[in-house]
Amino acid sequence: MKHITRTGIMGGTFNPIHFGHLLLAETAYQQFGLDEVLIMPTKNPYYKNLTNTATESDRVNMVRLAIEDNDHFRFSDVELERDGTTYTVETLRNLTQTHPDHRYFFIMGADSLYHIESWKEPEEIFKMAVILVAGRDGGSSSSLKSQIAYIMNKYDADIRLLESPVLEISSHDLRRRVREKESIRYLLPERVREYIYEHGIYKERD
Ligand code: NAP
Repeated sequence: MKHITRTGIMGGTFNPIHFGHLLLAETAYQQFGLDEVLIMPTKNPYYKNLTNTATESDRVNMVRLAIEDNDHFRFSDVELERDGTTYTVETLRNLTQTHPDHRYFFIMGADSLYHIESWKEPEEIFKMAVILVAGRDGGSSSSLKSQIAYIMNKYDADIRLLESPVLEISSHDLRRRVREKESIRYLLPERVREYIYEHGIYKERD
C-alpha cells in the first residue's frame, strides 16, 4: 500500500516566533501522529502591516534558529517564493499538486478559526487539509466547540481539537517588551532572543 506522509503546516507571520507557536506545532505532531511539521513563514499577509523593524529575512532567520534542534520540524519557504499576497488556499493547492502522497494538517490557534470564513476560498482549504485548532484556554471553551461544529456543518470540514497547554505569549507583547526594555527571557528560544538583540529588532514602535 502506498505510504501517505502526514504533514502538519504551522504557518505564521512569526514576528517573532515564540514558544506558543513551537508548542502548538509539537503538540500537533504528537497528538495526531504526524511525520513532520512544516514551519512556514508568510510572505506578505494582506491583513497585517509589517512596518516595524523585523524584515522578512529577520523573520526567516529567527524561524530557522528556533527549529534547528527539532528534527521533525522542517522550514518551508513555499510562501516566500511566491510574489504578492499570501493566501493559504494557494499554498495548499501548490502543495497538494506537487505532493499528492501527503495528507496536510493545517495547525492554527482559535482566533484564526473565528476568522477563517473571511480567508480566500475557505471551502477549498477544507477540501485540501484537516484543520487542527487549539484554544488559548486549552481548547475546551464552549464557544470554540460551537465554532468548530458550525464550520464542520457548513463546509463539511474536518476540524480536530488540539489539546495543547496554553502559553499566554504573543508576538505583539514580545515586540512591546523589547521596545520597553522588559525581559523576553523564557518566552522564546534563547537563540532567537540573542538574534533580536544582536540585530536591534523591535526597538521602534510597531
Ligand atoms: P501568527 O500571528 O504568527 O500566529 C501563528 C499561529 O499561532 C496562529 O494560528 C495563532 O493563533 C497561533 N498562536 C500565536 N500565539 C499562540 C500561543 N501563545 N498559543 C497558541 N497559539 C498561538 O500568524 P498569523 O498571521 O495569524 O497567520 C497564521 C496562518 O494563517 C498563516 O499561515 C497565514 O498565511 C494564514 N492566514 C491566511 C489567510 C488567507 O489565506 N486569507 C488569512 C489570515 C491568515 P491565533 O489565530 O489564535 O492568534
